[in-house]
Amino acid sequence: MSLPEEYRKYLFPKFKDNNVRKSLGGKRYMHTVCEEAKCPNRGLCFSKGTATFLIMGDICTRNCSFCAIKKGFPLPLDEREIFEIEDTIRELSLSYVVITSVTRDDLEDGGAAYFDRIIKELKKSFGDLKIEILVPDFKKDLKNLNNLDFSYIDVFNHNLETVKELYPVVRKGASYDFSLKMLSFVKGKKIKTKSGIMVGLGETYQQISELFYDLNSVGIDILTIGQYISPSINHHKVMKYYSEEEFKELKGMAMKAGIKHVVSGIFVRSSFEAFETFKRAI
Ligand code: SF4
Repeated sequence: MSLPEEYRKYLFPKFKDNNVRKSLGGKRYMHTVCEEAKCPNRGLCFSKGTATFLIMGDICTRNCSFCAIKKGFPLPLDEREIFEIEDTIRELSLSYVVITSVTRDDLEDGGAAYFDRIIKELKKSFGDLKIEILVPDFKKDLKNLNNLDFSYIDVFNHNLETVKELYPVVRKGASYDFSLKMLSFVKGKKIKTKSGIMVGLGETYQQISELFYDLNSVGIDILTIGQYISPSINHHKVMKYYSEEEFKELKGMAMKAGIKHVVSGIFVRSSFEAFETFKRAI
């Protein structure tokens, strides 16, 4: 299926990237999901001085069929990445950061305590910094979330990624029901919660609508909806390219289901315009 004409105008936009590339380029231990996942928005986000930091290495223990990130046996945690993240925040004067990670089923608590460590370090160094964490499912055990101090977190983000019917093919090893349970648990901590999906993997409108009502039932504040674009021929096939009109329709459906803040569009990704959306949601 070839890329619709409507999409081409978004590809390879020329943006002044604000020294982001230079700043990121000089780092050895730190990764960004922007670069690792080949995100199409890099130019736009970098021009706004935002980037999403990928902690706990760039090798994931899961094997989602849509994801370009390396799979296999991760390396031991390297805490030097904390200092490089701090340097980058300082160099780019970031006021809002998104911290995400691969899934680390090899770690006892799935990495929750390490996330907590990084967040506290950053808040200690940059008091006013707003922090969004985009987390894995921490080995699908709510107990592991007790290793996180929620008073340091501004937005707790966990993507459902797709509809429950596609989980066995698209998100092996993950659980739709557990992801909802985790978002509901965190909503109880009185912080902003966020989730995101991609469309174009073979879902139906009915399935998407049910997902919106499921997310609303766990009190989600912010939802992102974007088009799945296959990173390579070895990844999940694109089953449908949605038009901008259809993304407006999906936004309408999500808001009808009760979700207040919805960002929906062809190139929308979890951290896309994260700070702007956060400001609208507070
Ligand atoms: S868990 Fe996340 S990083 Fe790992 S393969 Fe799936 S989407 Fe990619």
